[in-house]
Amino acid sequence: VHFDTLVMGARVVTPLSAEPKDLGIVDGRIAAILPPGAQADATTEIDATGMLATPGGIDTHTHVRWPHDGTHTVDDFFTATRAAVLGGTTMIVDFVPPGADGTLLQRCHDRVDEALPDVVVDFALHPILTSASDQVLRTIDRIVRDGFTSFKMYTTYQDRRVDDGAAWQLMGAIAASGGVPGFHAENHELIEDLAARQANAGNVRVRDFPDSRPALAEAETIQMVSLYARRLGVPVYIFHVSGAEPLAAIRDARRAGTSLVAETCTHYLVLDRSVFERPDAWKFVIAPPLRTAADRDALWEAVLDGTICAVGSDHCAYRIDRKTPIVDDHRAVPAGAPGIEARTPLLFDGVQRRGLGPRLFGQITATRAARALGLHPRKGSITVGADADLVLWRPDQPWRADEATTASPHTFALYNGMRTQGTPEHVFVRGTQVVRHREFVGTRGHGKFLARPPAARSHHDEPAQARLPLDGRHAA
Ligand SMILES: [Zn+2]
Repeated sequence: VHFDTLVMGARVVTPLSAEPKDLGIVDGRIAAILPPGAQADATTEIDATGMLATPGGIDTHTHVRWPHDGTHTVDDFFTATRAAVLGGTTMIVDFVPPGADGTLLQRCHDRVDEALPDVVVDFALHPILTSASDQVLRTIDRIVRDGFTSFKMYTTYQDRRVDDGAAWQLMGAIAASGGVPGFHAENHELIEDLAARQANAGNVRVRDFPDSRPALAEAETIQMVSLYARRLGVPVYIFHVSGAEPLAAIRDARRAGTSLVAETCTHYLVLDRSVFERPDAWKFVIAPPLRTAADRDALWEAVLDGTICAVGSDHCAYRIDRKTPIVDDHRAVPAGAPGIEARTPLLFDGVQRRGLGPRLFGQITATRAARALGLHPRKGSITVGADADLVLWRPDQPWRADEATTASPHTFALYNGMRTQGTPEHVFVRGTQVVRHREFVGTRGHGKFLARPPAARSHHDEPAQARLPLDGRHAA
């Protein structure tokens, strides 16, 4: 056999082991996993002795070139995904933003067309649903069949939230189509009431931000949508779980029979609300908020026991002067922060520090996400036949967050100055080397849109709202 590329001697991370192997790549796929030192013929040979080969990272949550204030955030699909690969991420799942232009189906395809010429990594999209109009409900089946199989709904933010009724109708239509409904889960009324009381009392400084969105609001909405999902016989995806109380709601829902995919984000695993004592506290205005150190530790427990299935960055590269508050008022600061590049190095370090080992790193940065997205084993695993999305790590090499190329010079660095161990030295996307010795060597437009297959349909054959099982007798 002749390989296009032979990666020699790296410890190869699979769910079962992390042993030295040689990896042969042909036509963008892993063609052979050989004992180290096996004589093989290859166009390009890479000596990876002492390195760790992990599946390329999958970032389940990015907002690239995100519409905001009549313009958009300051990265684009090239600069953001260049930053992604420099960190060791080889696939992203971004969103189809809400908007008034065109039909939802058209906007899904427009977002693909926006990304394709620029994107360096493969990508999938979660359409955002903001209305349960007949037109939207009727089009969901087609959207799922076109490969946009997971959706996001916000239960808060006045300009985009779905109320309980709309959530129920949309989940029914998604269930009938074999898609997966997902939620930014926070109880709107609870948050709004607290915000009004805080404003009356004058407690709206940036440091008051974490108290404005309590964990209770998250837990309550997770309970509600989990109940709906269980009744419909559909899985549900919970975006950016922030700590112990929402985790308890997730475990309760699973015990009660809900098939639930829980995602957290880098910042909840790496930071805690003590950053609100810092002068640059404004950077950390992110919703749901950073919680306590105990919440952070609870999330690591949940990573370890399998409750958490994915870790996204929630990357959103606001222009620094738009994010910096003119007055000390958190309501003037848009929620969100960049982080597409730092995600994998921070997780690599976090896993090592906690003594959890490289196999868990592969699981939480790639494998579990690929399963949840319906892309495993093509993505998220180092197996024969899988896409050759690979990261070769130098496990002992120091990494500094502020040395990293960010997605844009006009945004800010959330993890500025943080020192960790483990650097992504070489990165491959479908067998093509895009990072060589920490330098970007990829090309604009190398990435592809991944149309995902629908899951098995729920017990409903047609997306007919009239037959939603409101009385529970139809529940599986
Ligand atoms: Zn987000």
